Amino acid sequence: MTNQKKFVRTILGDIDPKDMGVVDCHDHLIKNGGPEMEEHVDFLMIDTAAAQKELQSYLDAGGKTMVTMDPPNVGRDVPRMLEIAKNFKGKAHLIMSTGFHKAKFYDKYCSWLKTVGEDKIVAMMVAEIEEGMDIHSYNGPVVERVAAKAGIIKVGTGYATIDPLEQKSLRIAAKTNLKTGVPILIHTQLGTMALEVCQELLSLGVKPDKIILSHLNKNPDKYYYEKVCQQGVFIAFDGPDRAKYYPDSLLAENIKYLIDKGYQKQILLAMDAGRFYYQTAYSATKGHISYGIAYMLTHFVPLLKEIGVSQSAIDDILVNNPQVALAFDNSKRN
Ligand SMILES: [Zn+2]
Repeated sequence: MTNQKKFVRTILGDIDPKDMGVVDCHDHLIKNGGPEMEEHVDFLMIDTAAAQKELQSYLDAGGKTMVTMDPPNVGRDVPRMLEIAKNFKGKAHLIMSTGFHKAKFYDKYCSWLKTVGEDKIVAMMVAEIEEGMDIHSYNGPVVERVAAKAGIIKVGTGYATIDPLEQKSLRIAAKTNLKTGVPILIHTQLGTMALEVCQELLSLGVKPDKIILSHLNKNPDKYYYEKVCQQGVFIAFDGPDRAKYYPDSLLAENIKYLIDKGYQKQILLAMDAGRFYYQTAYSATKGHISYGIAYMLTHFVPLLKEIGVSQSAIDDILVNNPQVALAFDNSKRN
């Protein structure tokens, strides 16, 4: 055990968690290529000027910190994100991710996730967190590190299944957490397998307050959420403004249900605006009108208030809970 101060690892360096202000716990500003492009062309987002306009609108709405959840090989663009971080120095805190996405995005025969041994991949992850990210995002074959470090590790799981590559990436994330204290965020496919992910990570020794589950809003089952919260982990609800899945009102009511049940300290909020037309500034470049990342603060938080969520709960969700969830676990370091 050490007496090190708690810290959050941003692109431009470590900061006191208390300095984060309002936090969007899962979002995207730049997404450059990768296997998601096979799913939809809207995943390509490489306009730095548009990304900066979008970030500015989030700041104008009261935001301060954003966790960008693009892992190596799946859209992460270190040079563009470094440029944005430098241009917003002193104005915004940006956190970048290492880790993995769901197994669907990796070749099951010859990807490095498949062929390289677990402990060697743990070393690759630890290096991204403690030395600096690979500017080529492990798209290989050359690794060149920048000074900026990853501040969170991502893992993806599939729809109602956790395949062997995903089990491997969960073990790697757990080992990386035990070595570095880094928080872990999990992409659950349509909100499924959250309890199984928790059980796996907890059994490997990860503390519950270093586990953040994403996309549970796509499985809008408040009783399921309660069982997940009973594990002591965080749920990062994302994607208000996604009426194609569920109306905002359902998400708002489910959040209120959890608050009323005493889980106010385990809820995080995000937009996860990871597609071109999910963002106002990108859309505008093609003459489209749309909502964007600021919607979380301009529309969804007011809805929470309208249905009776207290200001103290909103402060916890936007400001206080991220200070716990995103801080490195110092007790793991020696
Ligand atoms: Zn995302």
